[in-house]
Amino acid sequence: MKNFTYTRADSVEGAISLLSQNANSKFLGGGTNLVDLMREEVEQPDALIDVTGIASAGITENADGGISIGAAVRNTAVANHPLVRERYPVLSQAILFGASGQIRNMATVGGNLMQRTRCYYFYDEASRCNKRTPGAGCDAIGGFNRMHAILGTSESCIAAHPSDMCVALAALEAVVHVEGPEGARAIPFEAFHRLPGHTPHQETDLRPDELITSVQLPAMRFAKHSRYRKVRDRASYAFALVSVAAALEIADGKIQNVRLALGGVAHKPWRAHAAEEILQGGEARMETFASAAEAELSSARGYGHNDFKIELAKRTIAGVLSEMAKAGGSPWV
Ligand code: SF4
Repeated sequence: MKNFTYTRADSVEGAISLLSQNANSKFLGGGTNLVDLMREEVEQPDALIDVTGIASAGITENADGGISIGAAVRNTAVANHPLVRERYPVLSQAILFGASGQIRNMATVGGNLMQRTRCYYFYDEASRCNKRTPGAGCDAIGGFNRMHAILGTSESCIAAHPSDMCVALAALEAVVHVEGPEGARAIPFEAFHRLPGHTPHQETDLRPDELITSVQLPAMRFAKHSRYRKVRDRASYAFALVSVAAALEIADGKIQNVRLALGGVAHKPWRAHAAEEILQGGEARMETFASAAEAELSSARGYGHNDFKIELAKRTIAGVLSEMAKAGGSPWV
């Protein structure tokens, strides 16, 4: 591993100022992904600025009934917070389905948003990877691609986004607050992560000199009827083959409100707009759920080993929605 300097920041302004002093520096949260990448020499910063000590507002209730989550809050604290469990159970469940207890105790909200794909070729210096070396090619296309994306892919990259938490945040229409030398700004969650296109190395809308300060969850009354389903190769400590984050409100047999997002299928958490359009106002029954899933996956493309994800995603969407309809809204059944 290359040598680097380590500094702890005690304020947002201080962190941004420290970053500006070295063009090849990075913010450090829990380090649960960045340190691995440094060990593999995929990331080689000269300086790390630890932002976990910045005084954070923690998790607070906003005037409109939404909540604000400080970027340095640990994943475990978010998953266990009473407001999150009561109003946004899908977020709590998504976090608890991710990684291991030890990793969740270390990982921060801001770091989770910035974690990078677990594409094997990305971590392997001997492989061609456009994300690691722009223009080099992509060994996953035509290679072993069982974990890779089926939606929104490009000729340059078919990597999948690894986060569970971010899938829930996409469904909940979170807003990411960031701060940099030019001031503060708010980025809608759907615009925060990017599809690969021809520039898979540019993964987010965050500028290199900006720091994530908080994630805001808007008030969404029906999100208390929400849940997360993760399909993976083993029962714990595995990334999603396919995951579904859903919030659903049903009255008189009709779908009054719905939010749906998918994980494990795209370069970013995938908000399922095509499915939502069919579901909204429709009859709450299996035929509607299956049609919605079919519509969402109509543009999907498999690359050989991951072809099975297309059918798996359809069945998982329909299954989760059907279970939610039968459970009468309880997220914890
Ligand atoms: Fe690299 Fe993306 Fe190809 Fe993986 S899928 S090898 S991350 S370019």
